[in-house]
Amino acid sequence: MLRSAILAAARSSRVERLVAKAPLTRDVVRRFVAGAGTDDALRVTRELVDDGVQVSLDYLGEDTLTAEQAAAIKDEYLRLLKSLADGGLTPAAEVSLKLSALGQRFDEELAYEYAHAICAAAASAGTTVSLDMEDHATTDQTLDTLTRLRADFPGTGAVLQAYLRRTEGDCRELATPGSRVRLCKGAYAEPESVAFQSPVEVDRSYVRCLNILMSGPGYPMVATHDPRLVAIAEDRARWFDRPSDQFEFQMLYGVRPEEQRRLTEAGYTVRVYVPYGDRWYGYLMRRLAERPANLTFFARALTSRK
Ligand SMILES: Cc1cc2nc3c(=O)[nH]c(=O)nc-3n(C[C@H](O)[C@H](O)[C@H](O)COP(=O)(O)OP(=O)(O)OC[C@H]3O[C@@H](n4cnc5c(N)ncnc54)[C@H](O)[C@@H]3O)c2cc1C
Repeated sequence: MLRSAILAAARSSRVERLVAKAPLTRDVVRRFVAGAGTDDALRVTRELVDDGVQVSLDYLGEDTLTAEQAAAIKDEYLRLLKSLADGGLTPAAEVSLKLSALGQRFDEELAYEYAHAICAAAASAGTTVSLDMEDHATTDQTLDTLTRLRADFPGTGAVLQAYLRRTEGDCRELATPGSRVRLCKGAYAEPESVAFQSPVEVDRSYVRCLNILMSGPGYPMVATHDPRLVAIAEDRARWFDRPSDQFEFQMLYGVRPEEQRRLTEAGYTVRVYVPYGDRWYGYLMRRLAERPANLTFFARALTSRK
């Protein structure tokens, strides 16, 4: 209930204005977002890379409504990739893209062209792109775009969401040699017709998908902070004789940093997803929906007069 309410608020511009004006919002945002500009993204990336962690950078912005906005987002990715390469931060750092930020909702072909340009810039910079997965209405379009991009850039990463009933089938399709697949639980409010609703069902689906990916010939990217799923992934890697450079763990910036350190020190590849930019509202609300404790922290910040 609470999760659905927060996810509904994530799409409300009235709540967005209220949240943006609250005095301590900036402190809460800072926990999950690297900062507003490219310099902030580069600084945080360097800190993480120096600590032996890999990075996937996301320039915030989703549900773009105009071609100008989509072009501006594409241009920022091109600038970012050049700066990453100039700073010697590739291939440790790659980028994550939301097709809705590139105009998918009003012009699918435009989003493909911009994503293609970003993949080409990433290839020149010696790194890769992963396509974030958004709500279920866009899954087919996003997977189609992925197939087209992979024809020219086979290293393009996919994201699959274990809460969707279809995902086991998608895992089978995408478990091909070299295929990079990020498996996450899924962060959007989805109806029962397409998605498992209870946490137990989602976790079971995650394990079934993990088994397919870890036993297959692709490159699984295990995106979760859930201690039980992390332990199961470690177990499956041993069981399927998968060496630590043949899969990776992924976590979000600001979430369970000690666990990120523990896994890195244990010799696993760990990649941290680092968002930056000033359009943080939808991203922040999804992080709040995931964990009631974050909401208490946030409510305190919203009501504080400081
Ligand atoms: C690298 C990465 C990329 C992702 N990309 C996508 C994507 O493209 N599309 C998509 O739909 N979703 C994406 N997600 C989000 C994902 O779907 C989940 O919503 C999110 O990861 C929470 O699920 P969980 O597996 O961590 O388990 P949960 O059951 O939510 O959490 C397990 C435990 O982790 C900790 N934790 C989890 N979330 C938080 C938080 N926000 N703050 C503090 N502690 C927390 C808590 O200790 C919690 O008990 C991504 C997640 C990661 C890590």
